[in-house]
Amino acid sequence: DPDGADGTRRVLLAKPRGYCAGVDRAVIAVEKALETYGPPVYVRKEIVHNRHVVTTLADRGAVFVEETDEVPEGATVVFSAHGVSPQVHSQARERELRTIDATCPLVTKVHQEAKRFARDDYDILLIGHEGHEEVEGTSGEAPQNIQVVDGPGAVDSVEVRDPEKVIWLSQTTLSVDETMQTVAALRERFPAISDPPSDDICYATQNRQVAVKAMAPQCDLVVVVGSKNSSNSVRLVEVALQAGARDSHLVDHAGEIDERWLEGVTTVGVTSGASVPEILVGDVLHWLADRGYAEVEEITTANEKLTFSLPRELKRDMKPDA
Ligand code: SF4
Repeated sequence: DPDGADGTRRVLLAKPRGYCAGVDRAVIAVEKALETYGPPVYVRKEIVHNRHVVTTLADRGAVFVEETDEVPEGATVVFSAHGVSPQVHSQARERELRTIDATCPLVTKVHQEAKRFARDDYDILLIGHEGHEEVEGTSGEAPQNIQVVDGPGAVDSVEVRDPEKVIWLSQTTLSVDETMQTVAALRERFPAISDPPSDDICYATQNRQVAVKAMAPQCDLVVVVGSKNSSNSVRLVEVALQAGARDSHLVDHAGEIDERWLEGVTTVGVTSGASVPEILVGDVLHWLADRGYAEVEEITTANEKLTFSLPRELKRDMKPDA
């Protein structure tokens, strides 16, 4: 028996995990748009970065496209939770699309900050991942004023016009600790740099990292359920390893777990990113139970109550019984 005399195989389950308020709202917005307008409903980009969610909605009549010019004139298009630049809104207007904006309100908040500081002509250093949809959307609010800083290693190459008039903002789904390292490095170069008016890294990202940190030191292995292009899910693997988990892997679903990861493992931690439906976590727990990890203990570090109301333009059209 690989777990030895003292080891009882067990699972620690992080809470909070999985869906955040912004993802929940975006997925329901597509479902309600399908009910209200009938298929096809076009969705620009993945509504949330989760393969299971995208496939399920596609089966129900959602058509995922990369850009609005792939949407037939006059059709309905939903913008994803990650947000879009003003240019995308104007393209949609030109093509007379019916738009439903499922941008998470916490991403919109960062857009507002970017607009406000651009109006005051600050150099805005947006800490985030180059090429991520959210970063593209936020940058588009003020392309002249915003530079993307992709981690501490990118700080040396930043140039600003006036070091007295610089502010940093951030993507909502970063590692809290790494972002603070980037900020410290920026502050070395620009001591007068201003902080954002409020936290840009969202509550859900922070709470999931706190939960995994609490659990990781007791874990031989931490399994994070999430897709490879999900920023907050990828961060959870990094945070687990930094917090003392011996090993950690990201999987889209139970079928991606490798039996060999379990060698010599007594305690498995399980968590999931903000775009991950709970059914996928349930499958992982079954997979583990089948291999002797049947005892599950939930490690709770916060109880989340936040919800966001659906996009106004959709609510207006929804049937009362829908
Ligand atoms: Fe909104 Fe945060 Fe969820 Fe992104 S992870 S959708 S910012 S609540």
